[in-house]
Amino acid sequence: MLDQAVAIDGPGASGKTSVGREVARQLDFRFMDTGLMYRAATWQAMRQRIPVYEADALTEMTKAMDINLTATECGDRLLIDGVDATSELRTPDIDRNVSAVSAVEGVRRELVSQQRGIAERGPIVMVGRDICTTVLPDARTKIYLDASAEVRADRRYAEMNDLGMAVTPQQVFADIQRRDRIDSERAVTPLMVADGAIVINTDDLTIPEVVDKIIKAVQGD
Ligand code: C5P
Repeated sequence: MLDQAVAIDGPGASGKTSVGREVARQLDFRFMDTGLMYRAATWQAMRQRIPVYEADALTEMTKAMDINLTATECGDRLLIDGVDATSELRTPDIDRNVSAVSAVEGVRRELVSQQRGIAERGPIVMVGRDICTTVLPDARTKIYLDASAEVRADRRYAEMNDLGMAVTPQQVFADIQRRDRIDSERAVTPLMVADGAIVINTDDLTIPEVVDKIIKAVQGD
């Protein structure tokens, strides 16, 4: 099955989700945003009041947690132990804590194993930070989407503003830089360009232009 997988990595707000979803639609593949799984683990940790430095407790919590992503007429809904947490996964609180939770080895081991299981069920476009390097290193097409921190912060601010969240552009920029640092410097599977990945800088490209490049890469293989 992995000979049909498209793996996309990149830093926060590099366009992975919008681009990956559209690539999946055009190829008629499933789509999986693995960032949502790390956000779900962070949401659960905050609900259970487990501090980000309690690695063992976070690992046990992740193993016990049931994450269910369901497509509905109103878009994808993510249920955590049966509770719909969709609207609470992209809040500034989650943004602040998600990279620390994601740096815990046991949390990653559990979620990576679930992600591989999902990929084995059929053709998929999977996006994240370690999909090309670790989750699906044998994927048919590997892409690394990049963009400058300024452009990514502008995109993320516009998104949060649209959702009515009370944040300033300066806060969003600082958060993007902080998450970049933690994601790239963590000991376990840090964000990096995988061997054989095609790097696309999206600073001056529209979503359809990026999608086009990826579809061509998939078909050219
Ligand atoms: O992509 P998104 O910004 O939603 O990801 C949230 C966080 O989840 C990232 O900053 C990163 O810390 C973590 N993550 C990860 N590995 C993935 C996907 C996301 O560590 N495959």
